[in-house]
Amino acid sequence: LIQLYQPLNFMGMVYREIKQAVIDIEALFDILDRSPEIADRPGAKPLAVPSGDLRFEDVHFAYVPERPILRGVTFEVPSGKTVAIVGPSGAGKSTLSRLLFRFYEPQSGRITIDGQDIADVTQKSLRAAIGMVPQDTVLFNDTIGYNVRYGRWEASEEEVHKAAALAQIDVFIKSLPEGYETSVGERGLKLSGGEKQRVAIARTILKGPPILVLDEATSALDSFTEKDIQDALERISRGRTTLVIAHRLSTVINADEIIVLDKGVIAERGPHAELLARDGLYAALWNRQREADEAREKLERTRAEE
Ligand code: ATP
Repeated sequence: LIQLYQPLNFMGMVYREIKQAVIDIEALFDILDRSPEIADRPGAKPLAVPSGDLRFEDVHFAYVPERPILRGVTFEVPSGKTVAIVGPSGAGKSTLSRLLFRFYEPQSGRITIDGQDIADVTQKSLRAAIGMVPQDTVLFNDTIGYNVRYGRWEASEEEVHKAAALAQIDVFIKSLPEGYETSVGERGLKLSGGEKQRVAIARTILKGPPILVLDEATSALDSFTEKDIQDALERISRGRTTLVIAHRLSTVINADEIIVLDKGVIAERGPHAELLARDGLYAALWNRQREADEAREKLERTRAEE
């Protein structure tokens, strides 16, 4: 029996490994809506991340040659620190995260992690080192437990519950009649944007990567949900190298550095208070956002009173 069991067990392992890889890639490409093109270079080595220092060095990039998107972008996210990228819509913020995941390659310049050019390492090791909380989380047509566990298959039940608790989704899950066994997706429970994002946070907590990319939601969540999610995000980013792609500006206040991207170049950089005092592009974006938020809150209040 043992002779039969071992190969079966091995096949099970291989199957899980392949399934994980396929799901990883599917999930990421679902989000980015394109197919993989970039292959490992010959002799690519696994990435080693002793401290998690991330650098963009004079990165130039265009999706199509006639339209440059990044024109010489240089910045560093020192190990354990948080850097937020802000800028007008279309400035190239999400493009930076696509380059970091190596869905595309810069035309010139390079991106390094602890001194290693990401173009020279295996994609598998690169993607294993980076956790992403995307804007729009894709959930699999499976149980909610499966969707959390996807962060790390071999996690114990206790670890799954702990991650869900840190992401502040466990109380909600436990309140469901079938708990962690509840089906989600097309034929199951429909989760709100905030709940889905918390599932993504729980996954990332389970994965425990040294580098985090937080792609902040474009759409406004209600103020309570947003506060909860921000707390959870802040908790997971503590002590990890974190790049926040901020489509709105609400999570950037506490970033160690804010990079203001405009038309493919860094227009301003510094911490929140310094940039506000400068009264430049960041201050203008900030004031515009604040006015929009105030108008939204006023509308929410009048609706609640009606
Ligand atoms: P937002 O805050 O609105 O999400 P962003 O700063 O994240 O904007 P990016 O998604 O990085 O902007 O896009 C930068 C520019 O590149 C945009 O003008 C966009 O239209 C263009 N772009 C994005 N993806 C592609 C693509 N696959 N092919 C061609 N152009 C693209």
